[in-house]
Amino acid sequence: MINLLEQLQGEFNLSYMFIAHDLSIVRHISDRVGVMYLGRMVEIGSDLEIYEHATHPYTQALLSAVPVPDPVARESRDRIVLTGDVPSPANPPSGCRFRTRCWKAQERCAVEVPLLAVPSWLSGLAAHESACHFAAEREGRGPESG
Ligand code: SF4
Repeated sequence: MINLLEQLQGEFNLSYMFIAHDLSIVRHISDRVGVMYLGRMVEIGSDLEIYEHATHPYTQALLSAVPVPDPVARESRDRIVLTGDVPSPANPPSGCRFRTRCWKAQERCAVEVPLLAVPSWLSGLAAHESACHFAAEREGRGPESG
């Protein structure tokens, strides 16, 4: 199905808006990727910017959960396991909607809505739009388990 969509795209010069939860399929088909959490766009960029240089903690958690077929690579990767339930979109948390599940959350996150913007302190492929007060490429381990 995906291959057929790509074939038709090439033949007729089409643009698609493709919405999915499976990030490996999204990467296969997309040139630009937007990540949403609780009804808000939290990060947007080219496929390379998002998949190799994600700066929003939610995107980083999603990417860490993408299935890896190679058992050796699977064993050595760092997973970010989010705790807590997804809040109700009808009554979202104040400030950053992701703060109740974010391991990087600080006081500012509860009072100030982070805007989708290119963080001035990031450069290169990490310098794409991210709605996080503390956007950064992932370093080391988060609150992972296996
Ligand atoms: S703004 Fe704060 S709570 Fe929201 S993603 Fe960034 S660090 Fe986490």
